[in-house]
Amino acid sequence: MEIIVARKSGFCYGVRRALQLVRKTGKKAGRRIFSWGEIIHNPEVIQELEQEGIRVATSLSQLQAGDTVIIRSHGVSPAIYRALRRKKVKLVDATCPIVKKIQQLVDRLSRQAGEIIIVGNKNHPEIQGLLGYSRKKALVVESEEQARTLPFRKKRAVLAQSTQDGQLFSQVVAALVEKTAELQVYNTICQSTRVRQVATARLAGEVEALLIIGGKNSSNTNKLYQISRRLLPRTYFIESPEEITPDMLQGVNKIGLSGGASTPPEVIKKTVAAISHSFQQNSNQEKVTHD
Ligand code: SF4
Repeated sequence: MEIIVARKSGFCYGVRRALQLVRKTGKKAGRRIFSWGEIIHNPEVIQELEQEGIRVATSLSQLQAGDTVIIRSHGVSPAIYRALRRKKVKLVDATCPIVKKIQQLVDRLSRQAGEIIIVGNKNHPEIQGLLGYSRKKALVVESEEQARTLPFRKKRAVLAQSTQDGQLFSQVVAALVEKTAELQVYNTICQSTRVRQVATARLAGEVEALLIIGGKNSSNTNKLYQISRRLLPRTYFIESPEEITPDMLQGVNKIGLSGGASTPPEVIKKTVAAISHSFQQNSNQEKVTHD
């Protein structure tokens, strides 16, 4: 069995940077430490961090003055910054610098005339943060169909969640062109996301089955799954190698693996090892049967 891992699989720059900041803070803080929401969408890493004393806060009531609170790579809205400051916690800002730039763009666009369309998942924390910079002038669009239902407007700007699927963004832009007299397009899909999407699509064309590895609640990993699934029906989404089932590998001689931006490199290595092991076991069984 040939196993090919997609180029650039695993942690992106923003996630790696956030985790480094978390670990550095954990060593120095000496007080209670929380991340504001899960620092990355990966259950194993969250568990490890909890063992190191870094807990997840999801509401202000969990916090008290003097706590250290780490803002994750997705960023937060200005209202959340203000609320955290009022709580008198020590803030460590691990917002990805690329997300910061998108926040600044939304802030700038919100001071101009016209509607702002953000192509993304309305419940995703990055989008919730971006909406907070929009002065209520932004609308989140999740699909091409939704974009087609929008009324005609004189002026609009459109941008994307940093981890958006490039194809969906283009489809929404095409739909908006027909609905807008003056449309400003900002392709804010980050370079790390683009590279992963291209590498995964390319690999889907080369292999017989492809495993997408990552947290089921990770937006960018879900996008990789959708992209691969469009091209290769035998695409499977797993969080860890324990989820590999025999039918995923049945009759496959060449398999691809791709990890999202929040997938730890160790999980990718373990998955490679698990597939090799299962392949060896199967060939030994076949040998015994033939003997
Ligand atoms: S996917 Fe891109 S924007 Fe998001 S955290 Fe990673 S590098 Fe930053």
